[in-house]
Amino acid sequence: MRTRAQYIERLGKMNRNLYSNGQMIDRLDERQEGAINVMSLTFDAAWDPASMDLCTAKSHLTGKTINRFNHIHQNAQDLHKKQDMTRFMCNKVGQCIQRCMGIDAANAINAVSYEAQKSPKAKTTYHKNWLKWLERFQNEDLVASCAQTDVKGERLKRPAEQTDPDMYVHVVEERSDGIIVRGCKVHISEASISDEILVVPNRALQKGEEAYAVAFAIPSDYEGIKQVVHFHNYRKRDTYDRGIEYGYTDSYIFFDDCFVPWERVFLCGEIQHGGLAALLFALFHRHSYSGCKPAMLDYVIGMGALAAEINGIEKTPHVRELLSKLIMTGELGYAAGYTASALAKPEVYMPGLGHVPYGPGSYIPNSIYANVGRCLSGEAVFHEQEILCNIAGGMPATFPYENDLTNPETKHLLEKYLNRNPKIPIEEQIKFWMNFIDFGLSGSAGSTLYGAYHGGGSPIMEQIAITSQYDMESKKDIVRAIAGMKPRAKKK
Ligand SMILES: Cc1cc2nc3c(=O)[nH]c(=O)nc-3n(C[C@H](O)[C@H](O)[C@H](O)COP(=O)(O)OP(=O)(O)OC[C@H]3O[C@@H](n4cnc5c(N)ncnc54)[C@H](O)[C@@H]3O)c2cc1C
Repeated sequence: MRTRAQYIERLGKMNRNLYSNGQMIDRLDERQEGAINVMSLTFDAAWDPASMDLCTAKSHLTGKTINRFNHIHQNAQDLHKKQDMTRFMCNKVGQCIQRCMGIDAANAINAVSYEAQKSPKAKTTYHKNWLKWLERFQNEDLVASCAQTDVKGERLKRPAEQTDPDMYVHVVEERSDGIIVRGCKVHISEASISDEILVVPNRALQKGEEAYAVAFAIPSDYEGIKQVVHFHNYRKRDTYDRGIEYGYTDSYIFFDDCFVPWERVFLCGEIQHGGLAALLFALFHRHSYSGCKPAMLDYVIGMGALAAEINGIEKTPHVRELLSKLIMTGELGYAAGYTASALAKPEVYMPGLGHVPYGPGSYIPNSIYANVGRCLSGEAVFHEQEILCNIAGGMPATFPYENDLTNPETKHLLEKYLNRNPKIPIEEQIKFWMNFIDFGLSGSAGSTLYGAYHGGGSPIMEQIAITSQYDMESKKDIVRAIAGMKPRAKKK
């Protein structure tokens, strides 16, 4: 396993292929520091005796102790631990810990490459290639991001129907030594601070869309790609230090006729498995949300409760009702994820066939519960801000700038009139409100809410997964029996 220092040292040696705001930038650019600090916590936690059991696992390939963010789930307990690790780590930063995309994509590709390799038309030894990549990923304790989301162009047209065929990443040429891919993946979190990028398809695919059924890994500083990076950082502070420096990044990744050698290709042309790769990354990722969303709720609940305490209204009935709503969403999301772990099997749902064995035996969370938890908690994020707004009142919207709080001309006046609770020192109240503003009213806050709402798939995608996989007929049977209707005709 690596340390924080080793992770950062490697970043510093990487090739330059990042662009931001008109310039080519270095990986250790100061605007990346918040994100690098957050990612580094996942290395610290694996070495810390207090969290080592939760944040490490035994590799099923080598038997070595590895960071749990690089582990393939071998049983339901591994999924419970992934969920709890995610909540634990997100609690350290109050937001996303940013390393789950890699573990979720790795678990999806582990199953998909195994099944695709069985195809008589397989272009290469997909699973063998995968296991070689995975062993290095685990041994070197690498960070991977996952590039699934295509730009998608005209939304109501399928990949092969687009006016511009490059709107979904696809293979433009197969050569003896590898493939050439073209297209662009968007909103790819932490690609600018990761070691590797795992690329998977974005959607279910049909005949004629073989070129879009492609999965592979590339180094994130690969010369065949360019990244345009968006930073999400909070305003710098001079006096009122934060408890943690937080940040994250997202990239547009351009594959401008990018060469990928066969040994890094895990799927190439098998449309059924391409669709399953898309579905499985989304499923594992939605399960991760059952750890991070409850953690974000923990933060929001703490924020609402402290705002109420500072405002002296914590015992009022409306505040209790609002806080109870936050608790219910967070803990229901957690419970759904817990159940998805407990019911996990090495199986996937296939339309018309139900649940069938899939992959080499690694565990896949129950889809209904993973989707229910993600959808319920994802859709609630804007309402959670409304609750915080309700409890806080208008002050966060017009809060003084930091230098007005320290300027001798205005400091004493502001400290006198900002004080809402004589039992809490005014410096503490100021730090609290500045943090409240970072979380809910800053530029970065808006992006975070969009990520929490759409990440892992927009709510409509979860609703489609739930309703297409749910056993609706058995529910109608219950009503038929109670209403005295005729039973459903048995299938011949
Ligand atoms: C902060 C952030 C971080 C992210 N991180 C990652 C990441 O690390 N990796 C990754 O792969 N992705 C990532 N995503 C992408 C995320 O998964 C997508 O935002 C999500 O899947 C929605 O896709 P979209 O943004 O293209 O929305 P759009 O597809 O543009 O959706 C816009 C609207 O159109 C509707 N719509 C779209 N297509 C159809 C259709 N065919 N029929 C009817 N309605 C339709 C949608 O339901 C929605 O209402 C991230 C997103 C954000 C905001």
